[in-house]
Amino acid sequence: MTHFSDRVEQISISGIRKVFEAASEDAINLGLGQPDFPAPDHAREAAIEAIESGAADGYTENKGLLSLREAIAEKHRRDQGIDLDPDDVIATAGGSEALHIAIEAHVNQGDEVIIPDPGFVSYDALTKLAGGEPVPVALRDDLTLDPAAVEDAITEDTAAFIVNSPGNPTGAVSPPEDIEEFARIADEHDVLCISDEVYEYTVFDGEHRSPVEYAETDNVVVVNSASKLFSMTGWRLGWVHGSSRRVERMVRVHQYVQACASAPAQFAAEAALTGPQDRIDEMTETFRERRDLVVEGLEDIGLHVPEPKGAFYAMPEVPEGFVDECIERGVIIVPGEAFGENGAGYARLSYATDTESLREAIEIMGEAYDAVV
Ligand code: PLP
Repeated sequence: MTHFSDRVEQISISGIRKVFEAASEDAINLGLGQPDFPAPDHAREAAIEAIESGAADGYTENKGLLSLREAIAEKHRRDQGIDLDPDDVIATAGGSEALHIAIEAHVNQGDEVIIPDPGFVSYDALTKLAGGEPVPVALRDDLTLDPAAVEDAITEDTAAFIVNSPGNPTGAVSPPEDIEEFARIADEHDVLCISDEVYEYTVFDGEHRSPVEYAETDNVVVVNSASKLFSMTGWRLGWVHGSSRRVERMVRVHQYVQACASAPAQFAAEAALTGPQDRIDEMTETFRERRDLVVEGLEDIGLHVPEPKGAFYAMPEVPEGFVDECIERGVIIVPGEAFGENGAGYARLSYATDTESLREAIEIMGEAYDAVV
């Protein structure tokens, strides 16, 4: 008899993939969650050098090259002002694996994990794979996660809550006072806050803050990744950091599912972290211009768009039939319900694409809107 695990039967292929499959080949793709910039030259060169010299041929330490973990610790010292021991960092196969091992190491069968809804698709799936129960929490009207709503959702079964600022699919950035509240909640309720900060460098208004800056206990683990920070999604290099006892548990999972992150990617990420950082501001500036273009364009169409303050997504409220009509007309956007029940009535569009395509897409979306209202 064919036998599949109950856990895997609880999850399905992401709704985003289904949208891509439905779209025509020459469609304008506003569905993709990856920056459209090349990886930094110095990162590529470091990987090539490591490959040619043979330095990248073998396994590295499970946690990753010490020099990479030092670079990561230095990044967090610089950006968050925290004193991070390189031993408390694990280099992973992207932020995706970092989320996986953080959840796997902390969630028991039947434990609850509070997740933003709409939220990044992995939170729900990884919680279920760990045997836990996702507890979706609706966002505020501005699409930020309300600390009071998280606190209300805590029960004696809560193992963790996930914060994602800047957020996917929303583009929302939590204000510092909310981030401080998340840290207080983690401390006072003794539950883990998993802070997914992969869009940290893409903030247009306000500032990026991490709960780890405020927490008084070790109840925060931070997930980050070279994918969006440096436009290196294909390299599959992320990391997670936390207290020694948490890292020690997470590395137990990591050593069995991954052994170590890809060595060439580790060399590349180290170079990205330690090399010139001026491109980051350029990318953010480009995303800001596109954000303005997209928000203005959508509002002109007649759609309400909660102002995205970071990442590279906009999440307008859309009328019934709008998403299908856009896809039909050759603009790929993702229905909000792909990110959770409360995403219904919204659509996510990514502006990680050139201005000309964005202009064209806005025009087509305007026609799609007129056709459905
Ligand atoms: N977290 C969020 C919020 C994301 O949007 C993504 C990717 O889209 C990830 C984590 C995973 O990133 P990575 O490509 O580093 O695995």
